[in-house]
Amino acid sequence: MKLSVEHAATSQVLRAILTLSALAYVVAPGLAHAQPAPSVVRETVESITQETVLNHIAVLASDQLLGRDTPSEGLETAAAYLADLHRSYGLQPAGENGTFFQRYPFGFMGPDTDAAQATITGPDGTAEIRIGSDAFVDGGTEDSFDAALVYVDLSRGNPAPGSLTGDVAVFELSGSWGQSLWQSSSDQASVARAAGAVAIVHVLDSGFSSSVISQMTSTLAQPTWRLGGDALLPRLFVRRGALESALPRESRPWESGATAAGVSPIGGASLRASLPLDVLSYSTPPNVIAEIPGSDPELSREYIVLTAHFDHVGVGRPVAGDSIYNGADDNGSGTAALLEVARALASLPPTQRPRRSVLFAHVSGEEKGLLGSEWWVDHPTRPIGSVIANINTDMVGGDAHPDTVAVLGNEYSSLGPLIMRLSRERPELRLTTVSDMWPQENLFFRSDQFNFMRKEIPSLFVFAGLHDCYHRPCDDLDFVNTDKVARVARLLAYAVLEVAASNDRPQWNASGLTNVRRMTSGGG
Ligand SMILES: [Zn+2]
Repeated sequence: MKLSVEHAATSQVLRAILTLSALAYVVAPGLAHAQPAPSVVRETVESITQETVLNHIAVLASDQLLGRDTPSEGLETAAAYLADLHRSYGLQPAGENGTFFQRYPFGFMGPDTDAAQATITGPDGTAEIRIGSDAFVDGGTEDSFDAALVYVDLSRGNPAPGSLTGDVAVFELSGSWGQSLWQSSSDQASVARAAGAVAIVHVLDSGFSSSVISQMTSTLAQPTWRLGGDALLPRLFVRRGALESALPRESRPWESGATAAGVSPIGGASLRASLPLDVLSYSTPPNVIAEIPGSDPELSREYIVLTAHFDHVGVGRPVAGDSIYNGADDNGSGTAALLEVARALASLPPTQRPRRSVLFAHVSGEEKGLLGSEWWVDHPTRPIGSVIANINTDMVGGDAHPDTVAVLGNEYSSLGPLIMRLSRERPELRLTTVSDMWPQENLFFRSDQFNFMRKEIPSLFVFAGLHDCYHRPCDDLDFVNTDKVARVARLLAYAVLEVAASNDRPQWNASGLTNVRRMTSGGG
């Protein structure tokens, strides 16, 4: 579980904005009369036991893996363990190039603002952009570039994929500084990335505060762990006044409002820039993705994505002489649950297999800012438009409430009532499912499901609660209630089978979607 909701640079910004605290309520379990699952299904699901779960956590949380930091040798060993198991269970590789792995660019880096240079050339001449006073920079790129300016008016819809290839996307970014403006700029950036732009210019108000510009210049220059590649597209946040010496009014669509279309080239205007990165460490850590193809010719084109991050925080400050943060519950428990659901469902006879396809996405980089899931969602190895649901499992082994698990986001979509009904209909699981017991902590927006919600994919977060060993060396095998993890995994297996079999796709409800849009667009 991690604090931030966007990449590392964002967490630096957000840390200034977000906070934490404690408990609300429990719903009594109902005893309903379940449609008994075919015995073969029940037997298969019940092959998920305390022992099978324990075996996985024993490996993942062993000292040898040194707390599975991103990046690290321990993380690579864990990734190989996951891929080998999925292969042995008969699942299909769903990573890249026919493998179980999707590697993503990741590093400790930031814009090299001292070396940054930018010049806007337009019908009226040139404008030297002074970094630190006229503008601040985020991201960067190895090579300097000289590209045409193209204005994008999102109120007329998103530009088509590839329609900005080789261009600089220019957006108006009006308003005063804060989380919402930062999030709007991130939304603009992901639109520009999808359209193939080489860089982005966010045009700030003329009254935009100089102190914020200089503060952001130094803040963003601090290297952080963040995604590389196109996630680092150079972004220039420039006060509109600085552009006027190069661009006449008719070339300033954010003022003249004269936009014929959503995408309009700013005649004769270009940005010549060198916006290098300061890279202190670079790597390509793995996500591990495996697939059970659906059994139904039609529905198999749709995907249910189960996620669980398998990274943790590595080695840190010793506590009682122990400096290895084993992450047995966070998130060895969720990882073990996904492995067991995969093993069980893959062993079902063809007639009982899920009708829709199921992806098991073990993402890394979660502790560094939900990075592995961000990368997969923005660079999906299956069509993102065909992903109909995400169920994320993180920290389900805590023992504070031995027979209770929270289903965060249950009130937002049809997925919630489904999983809560299943737990009532299966008293043999001895599991009570409850709503968010920690609403003040915004937990539904703090783990990997967040990136699926950004794409408005109905999502749930299965979670058993924070505890005294959270991000401490004592989060090791002995701490985890492996019997509970096995029961949660069984519930997940039944939920996947039901979502996969239903003729209807899961749906957000109206208030749920409104909330999700507000929270994923930076609204508090
Ligand atoms: Zn976690």
